[in-house]
Amino acid sequence: MGSTVYELRCNECGKSFGNRPLSACDECLAPLEVQYDLESVRGRFTRETVAAGPMNIWRYKELLPIPEGFLPDLPVGFTPLLRAKNLGKKVGADNLYIKNDAVCFPTLSFKDRVVSVALANAQAFGFKTVGCSSTGNLANSVAAQAARLGIRACILVPSDLEPAKILNTLVYGARLVRIDGNYDHVNRLCTLIADEYNWGFVNVNLRPYYAEGSKTIGYEIAEQLGWKLPDNVVVPMAGGSMIRKIRKAFRELVALGLVEHKDVRFFGAQATGCSPISHSVKQGWDYIEPQRPNTIARSLAIGNPADGPLASKMIQETGGWAEDVSDVEIVSGIQELAECEGVFTETAGGVTTAVTARLYSQGRISRDQVTVSIISGNGLKTTDALEGQYPAERAVKPKLAAFDEYIREVDASLVSELELAGGVQ
Ligand SMILES: *Cc1c(COP(=O)(O)O)cnc(C)c1O
Ligand SMILES: [Zn+2]
Repeated sequence: MGSTVYELRCNECGKSFGNRPLSACDECLAPLEVQYDLESVRGRFTRETVAAGPMNIWRYKELLPIPEGFLPDLPVGFTPLLRAKNLGKKVGADNLYIKNDAVCFPTLSFKDRVVSVALANAQAFGFKTVGCSSTGNLANSVAAQAARLGIRACILVPSDLEPAKILNTLVYGARLVRIDGNYDHVNRLCTLIADEYNWGFVNVNLRPYYAEGSKTIGYEIAEQLGWKLPDNVVVPMAGGSMIRKIRKAFRELVALGLVEHKDVRFFGAQATGCSPISHSVKQGWDYIEPQRPNTIARSLAIGNPADGPLASKMIQETGGWAEDVSDVEIVSGIQELAECEGVFTETAGGVTTAVTARLYSQGRISRDQVTVSIISGNGLKTTDALEGQYPAERAVKPKLAAFDEYIREVDASLVSELELAGGVQ
């Protein structure tokens, strides 16, 4: 532990910054990224060493920025990779998989991965208070993990967040501050607070470490496919960090010889009501035009995404594409995934599911290719999105005759099946 050599480096000019709480280059303002000396890892990171590790993200610890002396004990990640046969039939896909982070431990979203890596570093840097600007899931995860580590947490969110995401933060005892503004206002404020208060903000001054946690979803996909890379990945985009880090994960696995090289294509998914990255991809831009978010997919509602330009460029480079879907399509996407695969996802997963279906119908993904669609959060957190979809039916008297009458009225198909089996006269 801690013997891996890594440090922060500027994405644009390559300047090194060692290891410290800093997210942008002081010369070109580009995002900093953790770079590893892969040679120092070779031999300690093989299919065998991974298989011998725990069944969670820490099996990949050699490729995570984990400070000296940090003993991971939260079993985060290693979520199921499900073959989606029923959904595949519906959308015209023979080899569709879903990566189900709706059941990520401990707070039921992919954010648990990034937070566990960020907080390990927050502790090493000596921060007594941690925080984040959040569209919801990050708030839940920082609050829960800080509670367990015994660190104070102060979390800032846009005031219109879903009630379940607010409750899922407060229950852990974190200080939650609702800001009268959208995520981009909240984020700017957090940048100022981080400097003024000397707090560790997981997605501001600790962002390079936080972002590395996303790689684990890529390592898991490759391992769960039997140490093979997929042909395509469909990824929900908010700040644009996860999609880039999955590619970084695949490249590291190729460089270290755990998987064979493949030109994986990356597809981004956004809501039309907040689609700065998909818009940029469709225009062929290498920059982003910020938008004012207006969508039920609040976890993806970042109008000025920090990694947006890099994500857009990367998607185009891989020969992928990005799409965005309406709020109505998001709700249908949630229902379709639940009805086909028994997985209840939040609005972000509705976005990914609807975009995946569209990519097949557009012919951008062909049916035989191995495609992984990323389901990043849990439907129990955004039940308000389904309001009015399932009105309560009238209550039935506890009598067989009453049940008989009722079921014939509302769903005669259930009765005809019984009649065929000789069950009902
Ligand atoms: C944060 C988040 C994402 C995407 O995050 P990036 O900022 O693009 O890395 C996707 N889905 C859910 C549910 C999220 O909370
Ligand atoms: Zn620089």
